[in-house]
Amino acid sequence: MFGRICPYCKERVKKKALICRYCHKELEPVEENLDGSLGLFAGFIGLAAGATAVFLYGYVKERRKWHQDDSSAYCLDESPDSN
Ligand SMILES: [Zn+2]
Repeated sequence: MFGRICPYCKERVKKKALICRYCHKELEPVEENLDGSLGLFAGFIGLAAGATAVFLYGYVKERRKWHQDDSSAYCLDESPDSN
């Protein structure tokens, strides 16, 4: 439960240790508190990215439609003016 295994010497060191007490290699810092929120954050980002992609796809598709509608509306608007 407490500590983790040093990847270099495979000895158990403290979880928050930055230097292995056995082989004195630098260890990756563990942000215990961020672990949960980081996973949540990553999941949220993935979700948001997916939603954004779907939204953008729909938006572009819709905008194409609007653009066509707009151009025809402009034509209709401008023809009575110029005549
Ligand atoms: Zn070590």
